[in-house]
Amino acid sequence: MEQTEFLKLKDELGRKGVTLVAVSKTKPDTDILRLYEWGQRDFGENYVQELTDKQQRLPEDIRWHFIGHLQRNKVKYIAPFMHLIHGVDSERLLKEIDKEARKSQRVISVLLQIFIADEETKFGFDHREVMELLPALNQYKNVKVKGLMGMATFTSDTGKVSSEFHQLKALFDECKKHERCSDWNIISMGMSADYETAIAAGSTMVRIGTLLFGKRN
Ligand SMILES: *Cc1c(COP(=O)(O)O)cnc(C)c1O
Repeated sequence: MEQTEFLKLKDELGRKGVTLVAVSKTKPDTDILRLYEWGQRDFGENYVQELTDKQQRLPEDIRWHFIGHLQRNKVKYIAPFMHLIHGVDSERLLKEIDKEARKSQRVISVLLQIFIADEETKFGFDHREVMELLPALNQYKNVKVKGLMGMATFTSDTGKVSSEFHQLKALFDECKKHERCSDWNIISMGMSADYETAIAAGSTMVRIGTLLFGKRN
C-alpha cells in the first residue's frame, strides 16, 4: 500500500476510534520500517522467535502485539516487552503470563480470545467459559485483561461474518457489566478481508496484514 492510501486508511480508522495493528508476520524489517516512518507504531506478529528477533533489531518505541496461538513454554521470551497479547485462550496461559510478567516486574495487557467461528481449527473460550473466568481474574495481579478478541469464519458470506462479530460485541457488553470488567475498552476483530464488517459491528482494533504489505508466501 502506498503512503497516501495508508494515511487515508489510518485517518479513517482514527476518526472511528479504531486502532490499526499492522500484521507484519513473515515480512522483512524494511516493510515494517516503511510504515514506521509513516507514523505506524502498533505491529502484530504470531511467531515467538520471529517476534523476539524483530524486537531486538527494530525501534524501541514499537508496540508489539502477539496475535497468534501462544504456547505456555514460550511466554518467558516475550514477557519482558509485550504491549498486548491478543490470543489468551485458557486460564493456564493466563496464569503463565501472570507469572512471567511478575518476573519482569510488569503488568501485561491481554485480550481473551473467544471462539465465534464454526471452524474447528480456531482457538478460544466459549460464552460459558469466559463468564466463569471473570470472577477469577483479580487473582492475576500482573495481567490486565482489557477486552476480547475473535476471528470470524473464513467465508465470503458477509451476513455470517457480521453475525459472528455482533455475537462477540454482545459478549463484550455482557462482560463489561461485571464490576471487574467495567473498564474494558478493546474488541480486537477484523482482518484485511472483513475489517469493515467488524467495525460496523463495534470493533475497536483491527489486525491487518495483506492489505498493507501484500500477500504472504
Ligand atoms: C495473519 C493474521 C491477521 C492478518 O490477516 P490478513 O488477512 O493478512 O489481514 C490477523 N489476525 C490474526 C490472528 C492473524 O494470524
